[in-house]
Amino acid sequence: MNLSDVATGEKAVVVRVHGHGSFRKRLIEMGFIKGKEVRVVLNAPLKDPIEYEIIGYKVSLRREEARQIEVVTEAEAREALLSDEHLQALPADLEDAARLERALEHVADERHHTLRVALVGNPNCGKTSLFNIASGAHEHVGNYSGVTVDAKEGHFSHKGYDITLVDLPGTYSLSAYSPEELYVRKNLLETTPDVVVNVVDASNIERNLYLTTQLIDMNLRVVMALNMYDELRHKGDKLDTKQLGYLLGMPVCPTVSRNGEGISELFDTVIAVYEQADPRLSRHIHINHGAEIERSIKRVQPYIAHNEELKSRYSTRYLTIKYLEKDKDVEDLLAGMPNIGDIANARSDEEARIRKLLGGSPESAIVDAKYAFIQGALAETYEKYHAEKPRRSLTDKIDAIVTNQWLAFPIFLLLLWFVFWATFTIGQYPMDWIDAGVSWLGDRLGSLLRDGWFKDLLVDGVVAGVGSVLVFLPNILILYFFISLMEDSGYMARAAFIVDKLMHRIGLHGKSFIPMVMGFGCNVPAIMATRSIESRKSRLVTIAIIPFMSCAGRLPIFVLFAGAFFPAHPATALLGIYLLGIVLAILSALVIGKFIKDDDLPFVMELPPYRVPTAKAIGRHTWEKGRQYLEKMATTILIFSVAIWFLGYFPRHEGATPAYQQEHSIIGSIGKAVEPAMAPMGFNWKMDVGLLTGVGAKELVISSLGVMYATDPLDAAEDDGDTALQSALKADIPMAAALAYMVFVLLYFPCIATFVAIKNETGKWRWAILLCLYTILVAWIFAFAAYRIGLLLWPL
Ligand code: GDP
Ligand code: MG
Repeated sequence: MNLSDVATGEKAVVVRVHGHGSFRKRLIEMGFIKGKEVRVVLNAPLKDPIEYEIIGYKVSLRREEARQIEVVTEAEAREALLSDEHLQALPADLEDAARLERALEHVADERHHTLRVALVGNPNCGKTSLFNIASGAHEHVGNYSGVTVDAKEGHFSHKGYDITLVDLPGTYSLSAYSPEELYVRKNLLETTPDVVVNVVDASNIERNLYLTTQLIDMNLRVVMALNMYDELRHKGDKLDTKQLGYLLGMPVCPTVSRNGEGISELFDTVIAVYEQADPRLSRHIHINHGAEIERSIKRVQPYIAHNEELKSRYSTRYLTIKYLEKDKDVEDLLAGMPNIGDIANARSDEEARIRKLLGGSPESAIVDAKYAFIQGALAETYEKYHAEKPRRSLTDKIDAIVTNQWLAFPIFLLLLWFVFWATFTIGQYPMDWIDAGVSWLGDRLGSLLRDGWFKDLLVDGVVAGVGSVLVFLPNILILYFFISLMEDSGYMARAAFIVDKLMHRIGLHGKSFIPMVMGFGCNVPAIMATRSIESRKSRLVTIAIIPFMSCAGRLPIFVLFAGAFFPAHPATALLGIYLLGIVLAILSALVIGKFIKDDDLPFVMELPPYRVPTAKAIGRHTWEKGRQYLEKMATTILIFSVAIWFLGYFPRHEGATPAYQQEHSIIGSIGKAVEPAMAPMGFNWKMDVGLLTGVGAKELVISSLGVMYATDPLDAAEDDGDTALQSALKADIPMAAALAYMVFVLLYFPCIATFVAIKNETGKWRWAILLCLYTILVAWIFAFAAYRIGLLLWPL
């Protein structure tokens, strides 16, 4: 009986909860687990929700939800008292109430030990053989498809459980194309088997896994029987079943249903999953359908989930995916919903968007994504014995080259090098134009306005500040153009794939690599690029270590200092600095990873087929990033550059030299105030002011040092090849302090724009602030160490 049918005032004991994953989980968390007693507080025929009391708490459940809970009622227990021999053996002096209690427990336990298991799989994968061998039946087994036309039921017991095994017709997928598919789907959704056994033909695994991905969407409890395992073994292929199970979120049991090998273990696992004996055995994963489709899912799903009665019976993610695929059956189901208008509108918007961007229907994009997921999972777990493949698609041919064990890295590095070259070399031209344009605007404004603080604010604060953001826009657009090109063509997935193993060693994901490399250009787009990493943990750790990737804005500072202080080995000094950043990034990843809860997301690298990207998609992806950069960064950079200008401008000392003004301004005072904290690293207050302005943007460090050392940083080279600023720095700063300064600049708080990007991507100020403190601490420690070591080499 179902809980929804129990009358007011009556008691019942829970046998099991039906329904799909997240809904079941919620009910179980509320206390609806096997053997628990529920009392109906109020259940009137038209009342919804119904009120219950369980483990001393009052909860209300919708009728639809209560229908998913199977219970034993007092009436049923009384009946059992009369008929069940176990219960008749109860001691005669037991009171009636206690007797009933025992009967409830006994019947609930007995029913709990009966479960329904459905066999689902492609035609000809050995379901009927498995069915026969497990249940002792003699159903017809044939080596052609379509032998099983409807569900056959068989009963057997296994380790104290009575199992009803259902042999369903074979299907390649659960789209409602054929009567078999529809039949299987209805059976899975409506008779809700306790556990689904997905029978997979190990000798044809890739095609078979397609159905598996659909079962994953449905969020059912699934165990995979990797059947025909003998054939796989015979061919000499190797499959890491444990890892595959981990990636798919379900246990994988090798079986040979011809001779019964592995069948007993299979049902052990089925029972373990049913009892949820081990939470690691199965977990709920989402198949990543790619950024655009996932976006569509996100858009449509809330409208579907708005309908409570759907939520208790289906995974709304599943319904959303099916609805995007224009599945007739799901369309009919949703047609009855009051907000079908909203649902339909959201879908048609998304469909138009997908068609425009990907040049195809959502349905084909979803199918592609599922195959990409399968390809990725198999690439990590499956090893074919024979390297030669009879027919190779274009994708296979390209993959043979770009993921080749010798060529993969050189090709990857060459491409990266080219992207960076293009970003910075080609980007230099528009950068110069923008720079010139900004100067021109500054000059024009300067000559138009009257002298005074307002003019200085506009010219040196606003225009220069915005200019410093705008100047990087071409770089960002070019970088994103190439990234989109690599992503949409399918190459990026391969790049992530080949570095995946390396990245796993530091607890990260292959997809973390590209953002890290981008960090050498500019931390801001790098942090924005972490969005493609699904695992929250990997994403956070990646974001945390990107600031240690020395960005292009820091490069001029290193060039200046390395040239001045290490004239014999400037390249070595530079390389050393970059390497230090990388080493610290790796160490930080290991340390920070320890503090973030593992979200246990599957590390499947999807391998989609190669495709020529559409110009529209590339254009839009590129522009989207550019716009985000401008919108989010322009406002903050503007505010902070004005703030830094303000701190250097006031209090005003009219007619003083710029150096005098800087020293006696607020920022100069702050620089002097923090001097004691910075002195252990050998820094003087001028260097401190430089660091303070560097918070706004690293480029500002040099210009403010220039102001304080009263030289123009861009002055022509003097006789010894140093600029005036370099000579001035050399005269004032000891070698050891200069080294420490480079280390500090490398490691400390990257810049305001990065800070804001971290906040935006993690959604929390807390993270941005913590990371900022962390980087400053690391910078201080390492700069201090550098200073001390430097002193040994170059005593004062
Ligand atoms: P169904 O269509 O999924 O019900 O598959 P059947 O149970 O009818 O089996 C199809 C064919 O595969 C039959 O010829 C079986 O003998 C064979 N078969 C089933 N299981 C295995 C297995 O584990 N190993 C091998 N080598 N053959 C099997
Ligand atoms: Mg069959």
